[in-house]
Amino acid sequence: MAKVSINLATGSLQKEEIIVGIDLGTTNSLVAFINPDKNAQVINDTGKGVLVPSVVHFGQTGDITVGNDAKNYLVTDPQNTIFSVKRLLGRSYHDIENYKDFFSYKVIDDNTESLVKIKVGDKFYTPIDLSALILKELKERAEHALKTPVNRAVITVPAYFNDSQRQATRDAGKLAGLDVLRIVNEPTAASLAYGIGLDPEETKTIAVYDLGGGTFDVSILQIQNGIFEVLATNGDTFLGGDDFDRVIIDYWIEKNNLDKAQLAENRELSQQLRLKAEEAKKSFAHQSIFNEQLGDIWCTLDKQTFEQLMLPKVQQTITCCQNALKDAKLDVKQIDEVVMVGGSTRTALVKQMVAGFFGRPVHDEVNPDEVVALGAAIQADIMAGNRKDILLLDVTPLSLGIETMGGLMDVIIPRNAKVPTKAGRQYTTSVDGQVNMKVAVYQGERDLVKENRKLAEFNLKGIPAMPAGFPKIDINFLLNADGILKVQAIELRSGVKQEVEVKPTYGITDDQVEQMLMDSITHAKDDVSQRMIIEARTEGEQMIYTVERFLQKHGASVTDEETAQTNEYVATLKQALESGDKDLIHKRIDELNEFTRPFAERLMDQAISHAMKGKSID
Ligand code: ADP
Ligand code: MG
Repeated sequence: MAKVSINLATGSLQKEEIIVGIDLGTTNSLVAFINPDKNAQVINDTGKGVLVPSVVHFGQTGDITVGNDAKNYLVTDPQNTIFSVKRLLGRSYHDIENYKDFFSYKVIDDNTESLVKIKVGDKFYTPIDLSALILKELKERAEHALKTPVNRAVITVPAYFNDSQRQATRDAGKLAGLDVLRIVNEPTAASLAYGIGLDPEETKTIAVYDLGGGTFDVSILQIQNGIFEVLATNGDTFLGGDDFDRVIIDYWIEKNNLDKAQLAENRELSQQLRLKAEEAKKSFAHQSIFNEQLGDIWCTLDKQTFEQLMLPKVQQTITCCQNALKDAKLDVKQIDEVVMVGGSTRTALVKQMVAGFFGRPVHDEVNPDEVVALGAAIQADIMAGNRKDILLLDVTPLSLGIETMGGLMDVIIPRNAKVPTKAGRQYTTSVDGQVNMKVAVYQGERDLVKENRKLAEFNLKGIPAMPAGFPKIDINFLLNADGILKVQAIELRSGVKQEVEVKPTYGITDDQVEQMLMDSITHAKDDVSQRMIIEARTEGEQMIYTVERFLQKHGASVTDEETAQTNEYVATLKQALESGDKDLIHKRIDELNEFTRPFAERLMDQAISHAMKGKSID
């Protein structure tokens, strides 16, 4: 199928349009493109630099700042300054429970299995909203620098990102006004930037070592016929350049006899010290002694001491490499290439130790904080069909998914996925004793199924009657090389199952596909905001259902006053549901949740906490 692109301003189709590659990082983000000389190049918007710190600040007057300027607010206005949002993307509160203290802003848990939200002032933001702000900044910088509209992108994610995290990244792109052609693994992009995997004849096994600002991961990839397969990943989501800065600060605190608690209270000074530490760390690329003063604090450090301080942390990453190899069932000698990614791999000790472990020189010729974005640009170029030497694999032209609560489209196989492919997700029931579940299969890019094309519908019957949230229903999509889609639904506790087969491309022309893609872009903004309202409403309705059922069952263990007040909260939530104001709905859910939590906990009702788990279809 021909690749078309759409000019957002005019709605017209353009055949020749730049597709950018985006590295949406935890610490820094950046965008790259293929220049007229056919080389991948990072975009440097005049005077702003290449790296955009992944930080968003919300001002009192509703002004939003992204990047370097926002970073300054980390010290002066931490509650309203969001960093590391990538850690929250596609995650439920349950997923992040153990490290919630890491965030200086407010992360909301109104329902342990639903996706987290962030509260800033009176407003609620999803990590998707916040990531979209970063992506929008990148899009605007690219447009400014390239002097042309930028509507299409390839975005990278860590190899270990799950389906929900990938979908969230797609949604963020869409919200930023970008047509996301593909989500690519960061290690895959990094290899492409080194030209590894571009030759369809070559078969290779490589290790990609990525040490960023706050996270570390290593991936073992097998490349065959231009296809990248992730054999294993390992890492530590709380190990990175920030830790190196911290060991330096601790060292200075000790040498200067500073009071740690007192220093922590002086946020301004702490931040200045942090910046000095980072400066010292970076300076060892060209000098062996750092010697500066901050007020009356001596910031002195030599390279040798620095390396001693870092050693245990770097050793930890080597252990991860060992584990990754073990999981991939490979010996270190079977690794053909080692690719270094992430700003922190600039440190000499890191390079030495990684090269030492793998017993070979590592690839560090490309700028390690640019390599992922550059590779993403190359992937974009491949998808645009500009590389005649590379065979474009068959892909599905439109996303495939099912209808979930509120008439929303839940994508199971995203558009542009390589065929054959399979994917699946688990669902549950929303009502007690539900014995049937409708599975409606759709094709298309819109958020509401009514705007998409219906392919099939069936009823999974014979689910044993259980409380809402108990059944575990797996929905699996299998798209074979002939384009036949098999959809299977199976209730895991009872084994009841049902399946259907359709051919998604049957009865649809290329023109209709183009039209559907175009509509999805022109309606992207409305679609996403509608989805958010529906999601908020569904969450509110579920909450009311759960609370009312709770009162019915356990009315006796709750005081009359508690019941009366709960009913009042429920009534105001119901009013909010009518309003269609998503922030208000979230606020009311939050209030009801805060109020009922203590007595729900008091009873520790197993059924209720179970009912909270899993996403339901209707
Ligand atoms: P992420 O992938 O997490 O968004 P990056 O790859 O941009 O992060 O890495 C950011 C980290 O790299 C920061 O901790 C920064 O201090 C570190 N870094 C950047 N340049 C150097 C350098 N020359 N030496 C050591 N560390 C560096
Ligand atoms: Mg990175």
